[in-house]
Amino acid sequence: MKHDYLIIGQGLAGSILAYQLVKRGKSVVIIDERNPTSSSRVAAGLANPFTGPKMVKSWKAEELFPFLKQFYCELETETNAHFFSERTIFRPFGSIAELNDWDGRSTQPNYKKFINIIHAQGIHSKYVHEPFGGVEISGYVLNVPVFLDTMYLFFQTKCTFVEGRFDESLLTINDQGISYKNIEARKIIYCSGHQIQQSAYFGWTPLAPVKGEILHLKMKTDFQTIYNHSCFIIPNDDGMFKAGSTYDRMDLTDRPTEKGKNEITKKLDALLKMEYTIVNHEAGIRPGTVPRRPLIGAHPAHGNMYIFNGMGTKGVSLAPFFSNQFVKNLEEGNNLDQEVDIKKYYSLYFKSHFSFKH
Ligand SMILES: Cc1cc2nc3c(=O)[nH]c(=O)nc-3n(C[C@H](O)[C@H](O)[C@H](O)COP(=O)(O)OP(=O)(O)OC[C@H]3O[C@@H](n4cnc5c(N)ncnc54)[C@H](O)[C@@H]3O)c2cc1C
Repeated sequence: MKHDYLIIGQGLAGSILAYQLVKRGKSVVIIDERNPTSSSRVAAGLANPFTGPKMVKSWKAEELFPFLKQFYCELETETNAHFFSERTIFRPFGSIAELNDWDGRSTQPNYKKFINIIHAQGIHSKYVHEPFGGVEISGYVLNVPVFLDTMYLFFQTKCTFVEGRFDESLLTINDQGISYKNIEARKIIYCSGHQIQQSAYFGWTPLAPVKGEILHLKMKTDFQTIYNHSCFIIPNDDGMFKAGSTYDRMDLTDRPTEKGKNEITKKLDALLKMEYTIVNHEAGIRPGTVPRRPLIGAHPAHGNMYIFNGMGTKGVSLAPFFSNQFVKNLEEGNNLDQEVDIKKYYSLYFKSHFSFKH
């Protein structure tokens, strides 16, 4: 049987894209080696409409956030599972100037819709240091391991799922489609995270992987707010907490390090007033990109070969919106957002494949 799509990778990107295709009645094969240290497996799962040390509004937050809420809620209903929660994120202010700055921002429509309330000091002081008060932001948390396990079970019945490593040297491509071992498909889509760098077809794309480490904590408390200042502390549904994370572009192994642990605990100790015990420490490689935008679209030379990657630090919020846009591109010929369309990097492909020596 010839399938419509072969998807490589069942991380956040591959799971969400495969779901959108299955929903349209497409026949999908997924190959994934179920790597326990994939970026998605270790991700904290936070969707915060503000980003960076200065907490500026995230790119396209006003489009991404309503979309992601509807998407994950629909998926919870469809799979009869729970992995998505609406959560308040509290950002303590570092100074009076910051308090004044947020007072100003709260009058701007693009900020206003994500700000719940600005507090003077005292509201969260039982748990965190907040000498100048702080801002409560409306955010979300995806329990990514539960989400991935739920989708794995969903795909067992709705697609063909092949567990194991995809060996690209066994792939053949022609005008009608692709074949790989005994699988035939019209199109192949790479959702292989940072491992795309090893691909002979997409290794030229401007990926800039970033290692991240995260700690799992036990605490004698039950606060439900996410605290975020230099680092985040996220309460899980099981009474545990996640704290992180780090950003390292040099060490691209998936091994947790003492340096990473110390960096997180130092920030944690400056923010948190509670005692904690570290019960687990994980690391993964985020598929970051040079332009800090996802990388989506068709291969410059093979019209039935695609990439859906580059979710960087924000797979939870980017993947639902852009998978929807990408499926419309694949199935209806709609244009992709120019900022994510890999067409703008085709020159890198031509340079890497056709460089002439004078
Ligand atoms: C410490 C840390 C914290 C993070 N916190 C957040 C957060 O709070 N919020 C947020 O939005 N994002 C967060 N991220 C980023 C998030 O993890 C990524 O944006 C997202 O998970 C990327 O998903 P992906 O599917 O593209 O890649 P991956 O998760 O890497 O998935 C790729 C999949 O492809 C499979 N694969 C690759 N090559 C092959 C092959 N040859 N054969 C078979 N299978 C293959 C892998 O096994 C894997 O399952 C965090 C990341 C880290 C490391």
